[in-house]
Amino acid sequence: MNFLPQFQSFAEVALPGGTPEPLTFGIPQGMEILRGSLVIVHLRNRKEPSLGLAVRTHDQLPSFPVKPLEKHPSGMIFDESYVELVEWCARFYCTSLGRSLDVFWPADLGKWLSPPKTKTLKTPRSRIPATPETAESLTLEQTQAMERLAPMLDGTGFRGALLHGVTGSGKTRVYLELVQRCIAQGGRALILVPEIALTPQTRDRFQRYLGVEVIVLHSNLSAPERRHSWAQLLGGSAQVVMGTRSAILAPGLKPTLIIIDEEHDSSYKQQDPAPRYHCRELAFHIAHRQGALVVLGSATPALETWEYARRGNLQLVQLKERARPLPLPHVRIIDLKQQVHQAKELLLSPALREAISETITQGHQAIILHNRRGFATSRICLTCGDAMECRDCKVPVILHLRHDALLCHYCGRTYRAKAPCAKCGGERFSFAGGAIEKVEREIVEWIPGANVVRMDRDSVQNIGSAERILTDFRAGNFNILLGTQMVAKGHDFPNVQLVGVISADTGASLPDFRSSERMFQLLTQVAGRAGRAKEGGLVLLQSYNTEDPVLRFALQHDYEGFASWELDNRRELGYPPFAKLLSIQISGKDLPLVDRACSLIGQALGKFPQTLALGPADAFISMVRGQHRKHFLVKGPNPAALRLVAESALESLTGEKLPGIQLKIDVDPQGLF
Ligand code: ADP
Ligand code: ZN
Repeated sequence: MNFLPQFQSFAEVALPGGTPEPLTFGIPQGMEILRGSLVIVHLRNRKEPSLGLAVRTHDQLPSFPVKPLEKHPSGMIFDESYVELVEWCARFYCTSLGRSLDVFWPADLGKWLSPPKTKTLKTPRSRIPATPETAESLTLEQTQAMERLAPMLDGTGFRGALLHGVTGSGKTRVYLELVQRCIAQGGRALILVPEIALTPQTRDRFQRYLGVEVIVLHSNLSAPERRHSWAQLLGGSAQVVMGTRSAILAPGLKPTLIIIDEEHDSSYKQQDPAPRYHCRELAFHIAHRQGALVVLGSATPALETWEYARRGNLQLVQLKERARPLPLPHVRIIDLKQQVHQAKELLLSPALREAISETITQGHQAIILHNRRGFATSRICLTCGDAMECRDCKVPVILHLRHDALLCHYCGRTYRAKAPCAKCGGERFSFAGGAIEKVEREIVEWIPGANVVRMDRDSVQNIGSAERILTDFRAGNFNILLGTQMVAKGHDFPNVQLVGVISADTGASLPDFRSSERMFQLLTQVAGRAGRAKEGGLVLLQSYNTEDPVLRFALQHDYEGFASWELDNRRELGYPPFAKLLSIQISGKDLPLVDRACSLIGQALGKFPQTLALGPADAFISMVRGQHRKHFLVKGPNPAALRLVAESALESLTGEKLPGIQLKIDVDPQGLF
């Protein structure tokens, strides 16, 4: 074939949705393409043209024929700092550019790029007053916090602060003030929130006070909302954006202020697919590169964050008192060892039952937390004693009454509740391990006048229903809100005087180096929902292990005491924040192949004296969806050392035929399982 060089210059184009690494295309004569240009290319295996991001241009003639690219009709060019960010994210989390764009670009980005045809877009679901409302005047502590934070908006380099405020201290009021300053100075603010269900009220509040539109970004927007948000963002007119995790790298916004509310929340870490990034890490990187202020807010900061602040890498700004002149609620432990109700296999102790009754009799409300979905957490065969597990996942299946079925929480497979025992064919069962639906039934049966609403992933199918439950509860249509950890976060219900925790035993959660931290955070957060507007808030924690230090610290509302105790443990065991972790998971249907991959990786990992590799071990859940899972845990002094290890693990498998074997690399894994 007669192949003539048609092009003088070329572009490497990163493409979401398929090819992990950038592909080379020719730039037609006279077309100006820069790093950051949005382009359209035609791929052999796709009917539709694809949208891509030019990440490098050059004039080295490739050794293979290349196709031409086209400029995107919008002429949009993302700036250098944005391209650099995505590249950094891909590198830091050991994945490709293409996969990163998959995560941060909406699937239909191309659609939102062309200027909208309609003249004016309706702003959905938002009321922006002509004259902004005034908010309550700041408390003394809030004023002092602002005096520390406002000067950090100078935009001259990395600025970072931890706003550590007890529950109800009015952190949101400080965010409002800070965002207002930020936009008054011509800046742009990004507010990240953990839970979509919490966004609507918060957004309204910001909008009313700031008098500018707050653009929302999360994965559950309606079509008109999506169109509107992306048009504003890409059109460059967004001043304030509120969103969940992936908003951190939304194209088009170059924030000068990034607020991460409830920064300890595990939703800030992406699990699947890669890049398994953490918002906090990306926020730090943005602030370093672009000169921005990062404010991390929480009553129970992640221990990493606390340690950064202790070392002086973040300014520590504290709110030690509640904004309304009210004490923190009184916390009591109910010793389950001493409670007779166990004989009757009830989940609610008499003490908790009485407290609930009393609370609702007085016209107040209660929040009850139980972090287990379903009705019963195991089905035991009364003939052979076998506890039924999911065929494909080797985890106990959970009885759900509504479906009258046993459900695997890992793969979603369902089994008939009365299906004969797989071991012995037995047909009589005991359903043990009380989950939340059982608590609900007990409340209804045992507490006269109870009007309970349940909030968990089974009762909440979409944001609408979560919002409705919260609004109804706030309006007093229910006197008891029963839920999983969903109910612990951020809500401000003035009439809640009692919080009850069905099981506050750390030991009952997964064996993970973060179990204590998670339990402390959960207890403190949920306790913080009680007594926010009236004296006499009460928190009751049911537990078998009443001497557990985690409970003792929660009892005293002593975050700092907890942090220093738990940091000592972490230091001793060489866990974050005193080391960096990398987890490498190998999975596949064929066990010998999984083992072969493990041995290759094991050899590769042995070559790095700076890091310590543990494994291969069976993953805690050793089989999911019929896939065997093994993993390595690597401890190292810094991310760079771990990245070398990860790359060498990946390399060790190239050239080897390992069909069906998958490798999952997680930098800074949140949990070990
Ligand atoms: P946090 O997020 O720190 O738990 P919130 O922002 O939810 O706290 O505030 C707790 C309560 O205190 C809210 O009802 C809020 O309206 C009220 N509040 C906050 N700041 C003030 C203030 N300066 N004056 C009066 N009330 C305030
Ligand atoms: Zn399963």
